[in-house]
Amino acid sequence: MTLLASAVHALSGLLDVLRVSPLYRSSPRYVLDQPDFLNLVVGGGTDLAPDELLDATQAIEAAHGRDRSKERHKGPRTLDIDLVLYGDRVIRSGRLTVPHPGLTERAFVLVPLLDLAPDMVHPETGRPLRDYSRAVEGQGIYLHGDGRLYSGPSGRA
Ligand code: AMP
Repeated sequence: MTLLASAVHALSGLLDVLRVSPLYRSSPRYVLDQPDFLNLVVGGGTDLAPDELLDATQAIEAAHGRDRSKERHKGPRTLDIDLVLYGDRVIRSGRLTVPHPGLTERAFVLVPLLDLAPDMVHPETGRPLRDYSRAVEGQGIYLHGDGRLYSGPSGRA
């Protein structure tokens, strides 16, 4: 948990006007014998190109102990930072798919993003993101504590 706070702090060095969603806990999907995940969405402006931003977020993952060579696919990991949206750009490159497919398929992406931007429209389909909420119902996502990243000195966060 202090790890997540540290990662958000690192992202604040990359992004202007940082906005941070409430913190959620979500049930694992696909690989079920692992602990719940903690999820949040961060938004902000950047001068970095998409690939440069990905390099920078991967450096933050590595600095927080992520070693992909030791991971089970879809299994536990210390920190996973995805580029969900980059303005209204649509990117399909060898390294990046933006908007991230999880945006419309995974509650742990869509729900915190809608907290930050309830009226946002999907750049490819032109549909309001809230239209996708029904498709991710029942995936097991819960506010973690009071949803704050820092819940005070005695909190679990
Ligand atoms: P993961 O193991 O989930 O962190 O996936 C990492 C790989 O997904 C990276 O090597 C990226 O090149 C690729 N990738 C494709 N699209 C994205 C995206 N929108 N955000 C982050 N990584 C992406």
